[in-house]
Amino acid sequence: MKPWLRGSIAAIAALFLAIGLVHTVAASETEAPSGVIVPPPVTSKESSRSIRITWSSAQDDIVKAYYVMRRETNDNEGVGEWKMLAEKKSDQEKDGPLNHYTDRLTSSSPQQYEYKICTLSENGAVDTREPEYAKDTDDCAVFGTNIKICIDPGHFGTRNNNYEAKGANKEFPYSEAKFTLKIGKELQKDLKEFYGIDSYMTRTGNTISLTYKGKKYVNKKLDDRNIAIRGYMAKAEDCDFFISLHTNSTGRVKKPWNQPKSINKTYVFVNNEARREKLGMDIANSIGLNVTAYNQEAGIQIAGFQTRARKKAISYKKLSKDPSKKNGTVVFREGSGGMDYYGVLRGASEVGVQGILVEHAFHDTKIVREQASVSKELYQNWAACDAYGIAYGFGLVKKREQQAQVIAGEEAADKRLQQAENP
Ligand SMILES: [Zn+2]
Repeated sequence: MKPWLRGSIAAIAALFLAIGLVHTVAASETEAPSGVIVPPPVTSKESSRSIRITWSSAQDDIVKAYYVMRRETNDNEGVGEWKMLAEKKSDQEKDGPLNHYTDRLTSSSPQQYEYKICTLSENGAVDTREPEYAKDTDDCAVFGTNIKICIDPGHFGTRNNNYEAKGANKEFPYSEAKFTLKIGKELQKDLKEFYGIDSYMTRTGNTISLTYKGKKYVNKKLDDRNIAIRGYMAKAEDCDFFISLHTNSTGRVKKPWNQPKSINKTYVFVNNEARREKLGMDIANSIGLNVTAYNQEAGIQIAGFQTRARKKAISYKKLSKDPSKKNGTVVFREGSGGMDYYGVLRGASEVGVQGILVEHAFHDTKIVREQASVSKELYQNWAACDAYGIAYGFGLVKKREQQAQVIAGEEAADKRLQQAENP
């Protein structure tokens, strides 16, 4: 796919998924001699001041030298001239160790570049830096950043299945722990694929098992008594931001599995580090706006979202007195001694990492459980909104609101409307 299209691919993919079409990519019309085009390299944050680029060694026997190429990006698109960062001689042995290069940056501020690998053929006849190969090599370009996110899928196992205690509603079984894992895996994929942002996940399966300072914490032992470790991992894994993924539940005791859709709204909780900073508030506001727009279009939610300025997140204690109580917003919640109430956010604050906890909607409304169970749309779109908000906060995309998300949502809403009219 063309790199300049990549910014809109998330939306297009979501749209295709939303309308149930299979997303197929036409075979490219490659005119370059076979074997001279290097497949897309893999980028990763090596440190705050370096990005590692790794690529296949399958062509080492027919390549004399590789050229590591880089260009600037603007609004998540590659722009300007490609510049050669390095020439790396091939070891001439096919399928040896992967080829790699470390791009050393001049500052540790968040940066995104586009990278590609060009080649000089073994006999010197083909140099893919030449303009005639630009399309083919551009098609294999990828983004790389010095940004890494700690993704924390909330809970573990099958916890917070909102009706398991009462056993009253057998319709649309739901487990918050299982669903947040789906959002988390999708978010990891989206961040890398569309923005070049790396991530670490506090869990990748039903179990959570974290080793911190030489001690291992698993499931209940972690969450009941040492939950802040989820946040500590952000620092331990060299992450620049922490995000904990959740769906909400009410304290209402009457029919907790059957709350009206009117209670749905998006709350983004910011930790003490994030609420004072532009980065944290930009990410919180963008995610809140985009998830809300999607929820509205998907027919989950009526309420809107009220953005908050830096240092102006609303206290959880004041939520009910807030004139915008019908809307979701950016919230901070203090526990004892002014520390963050939520352990995961407190953990991130303690190690100096800005963090948020996103309550995407309420799972004790039937519509949320229904949409969560009938298709991939809900977690894929929530993940796309979360990824976009993170990219916005770090300055990789310019607009705070992702217009295409709403389009995807509209398609989804139209489809549901048609289904309702023609069952
Ligand atoms: Zn939760």
